[in-house]
Formats: sequence, C-alpha cells, structure tokens
Amino acid sequence: MEDKIAVKQRVLAEIESHKEEIIRIGEDIFRHPELGFKERRTSALVRENLDKLDIPCESGLAITGVKGRLSGREHNASVMIMGELDAVVCPLHPDADPESGAAHSCGHNSQIAALLGAATGLGAVRDLLDGDVVFTAVPAEEYVELEYRKRLQLDGKIEFFGGKQEFIRQGYFDDVDMGMMIHSHAGVTGRNFLIDCDSSGFIGKLIRFTGKEAHAGARPFDGINALNAACLALLAINSQRETFREKDRIRVHPIITKGGDLVNIVPADVRMETYVRGRSLFAIMDASEKVNRALKGCAYAIGAEVEVEETPGYLPLIQDPGISALFAKNAEKLLGEGSNIYGEELMGATDAGDVSCIMPFIHQSTGGYVGGAHSKDFFICDPEMAYVMPARVMALTAVDLLWDHAAEAKRIKESFKPRFTKDEYVKFWRDFREGKTAESF
Ligand SMILES: [Zn+2]
Ligand SMILES: [Zn+2]
Repeated sequence: MEDKIAVKQRVLAEIESHKEEIIRIGEDIFRHPELGFKERRTSALVRENLDKLDIPCESGLAITGVKGRLSGREHNASVMIMGELDAVVCPLHPDADPESGAAHSCGHNSQIAALLGAATGLGAVRDLLDGDVVFTAVPAEEYVELEYRKRLQLDGKIEFFGGKQEFIRQGYFDDVDMGMMIHSHAGVTGRNFLIDCDSSGFIGKLIRFTGKEAHAGARPFDGINALNAACLALLAINSQRETFREKDRIRVHPIITKGGDLVNIVPADVRMETYVRGRSLFAIMDASEKVNRALKGCAYAIGAEVEVEETPGYLPLIQDPGISALFAKNAEKLLGEGSNIYGEELMGATDAGDVSCIMPFIHQSTGGYVGGAHSKDFFICDPEMAYVMPARVMALTAVDLLWDHAAEAKRIKESFKPRFTKDEYVKFWRDFREGKTAESF
C-alpha cells in the first residue's frame, strides 16, 4: 500500500520530467490568442494533449469547451481542475493576433498549461486515486465582444455570455463535486501564490428613456424631454451613494450613450448604460433596486417612459476554505514558508464567481508576471512559476482531496452550503433579465 507522500512524489516527478513540454504548451498558446467562444485552436490543443494522456474527453461543449475525466480506482468524489481558453482584446500587444487584436494579456494561457501539467502528473497515479479528476477547459471568461455574443444568443448557441455560466446551464458541471483553478496576478513577479483574493460581482443595465419630440424653439411645451429625465436620474442615483456601505464596495458608473437626435428637437430617445458592482450578491441587488427606483421615479417626474434591460454579469467569488487550506499548504511546501500572500483583492470580476455559488471552488492567484492586466506590457517573466508551479500545487491538492476514500473531498462537500442549486442559478439570471429579481432573491 503506497503512502500519500510517495504518491505525491510520483506526481511531482512526472511533472518534472514533462516540465519543458508544459512550458512549451503555455508559450504556444500565448502566441496564438483567441477570443471567447472562438478558441478553436486552443481547444483542439487541449483535446490532443488529454488524448495523449489517455484521458477520455468530450469537446465542443458550449462551442469550444473541453472536458476530460481521469478515473481513479474508486469514484468517491469528482474534483475538477479548470482552465480558461480565451484571450482579451489588446491589439497593441506585441504578440497580439493581427486580425482579431486578441492577446493573452490576462494570462489564461498559463491556466491551460497548468491544467495539462496537472493532468500529466495525476495521470501517472490514476490507479491510486480514490476518486476522479475532471479537467475542464472553459470558453469565454472575458466579458467582451457583446455584439458577437448577442448573435450567438439569438442563434440559440448560448444563453449567457460567460463560458462557465454556459457550462453550468448546460449541465457540464452536474457530475463534478468541487473545483479549483489559478489565475495570473499581473505585476506579481515573484514565486508567490496569492491565496483567497476576493472579487466583486456585477450586473449591467441598458436604459432607454422615451419622451416626446417637439420643436425645441417653437413648441417645447408640447414635448417631453427624455434627456431631462435621464439627467435627473443621474442625480437621483448619486443621491443614493451615501447609502452604499464601504464593505459592500458598490460601484455604479452610468454613462449617457445617446443624448438626443437633433439639437432643435426636444430629445425623445435617450440611452444610458451602467454597471452595478459589489462585493456580495445581496449588496448588488440592493443597489440595483435603488438604481431602478431612481430611473423610474425620474421618468415619472418628467412624464417620460423608461425601459431597463437587465444584463446578467458575474457573481462575486466565494473561496472555499477547505480546498484553499490544502492548496495553500501544498504551495508553501514547494515554495517555502511565508511565500503565500493573503488579503489581496482581485481587480475585476470573473464567472468563476458563478461556479463558486454552486460548488466548493477556489480561484487562486499566481505570480510570475510583469506588466498590467489586459495591457500591452503584460508578459510571463517566470515560466516555471506561471505554468509549472500551479500544475504541481493543483495536482497535489487533488491527491489530498481524493486520498483515503476521498475523505477530505467528502468532508468539504458535506460542509458546503451552495448559494444556488444549478436550477436556482439559471432561474435567478432568467428572472433577473425579466426584472423579477426582487421577488426571487
Ligand atoms: Zn481578464
Ligand atoms: Zn482573466
């Protein structure tokens, strides 16, 4: 009977002997960036490498996603290792795709390299694992190219704009108990993992005020000025700001995208957009209600009409303490005591937040990067740290979770209280889109 330390050493040895290949894969994806729901080359590369490792997989999930399952000797739990396939738009990046402007300046290429690295290590000990490891390469984390995604939506190819949201909706996580992934932390060049960074969530609103046209000089009294309603609404939104609590980190940042048609006509068609961001779902929905009240109240005051199209965004991330503790311990074993950094925040939002509402999940940040996120100076300065170290830490964490009849995984699963079941999650966003959130929330 093997002991856990020996199994972990085998995993590390296997990753070590494929180190160059893991780095080569990461660099190759970096040089071939693809945007969300279009990651065909990257997706094929994942599939090819999982095939090579003899890990059966399905591809073409939510257009470009891939999912492979490494079966253990027992099947007490399914632990997922996830990576994002997509790039961002950053045309000035030296490695940007000349046609699409896509560049890997969010470092998702390292997630895929780490996923395949972990698969290599765990593949060597599959007969000693008491559960399965599921490898998922997911499309479209970046919330971009909304026109393209709207077309996909109209064609019935997707319902939500985030790849993981689609994975949830289409049931590709139904047979997964918990998961983990890593993400670059731009500007952290050192060999550090940043444990349990929290992120905000957001929702979007497309707003249209409709008034009544009239000659602005001759007969303004016959008109209804939609721009006045919109301006009043901006003031009313601002008047709510003192009710936002610091700890909720609410950000509401509306813009007027259309202020009227012609200067000598009373504006009758005025458009606004806004995000509402916040640290918790409750806080986001609370602020969202206040924004809607301001919009409706100000339209009423002027006699205009207002339509608000609610757009699902991403939910705030909830890091699972059990998986996180195992991950942090493995990281520290490899990188030395004190190497883990705590208490940092993620700057943006991620649909990993949505996943973390339905299953125990972690999204840990890693060093090894120079430059700013989504910027032309973003590069991997330490390939070993960016690609290989996360492969090691995630693989070792999977061993911990699945050891001894998957005792840890079972314990984590039992103590987890999901924010939503899968069906509740899908219903939540559908209701939200229809403006019914207040009731269902
Ligand atoms: Zn990004
Ligand atoms: Zn990212």
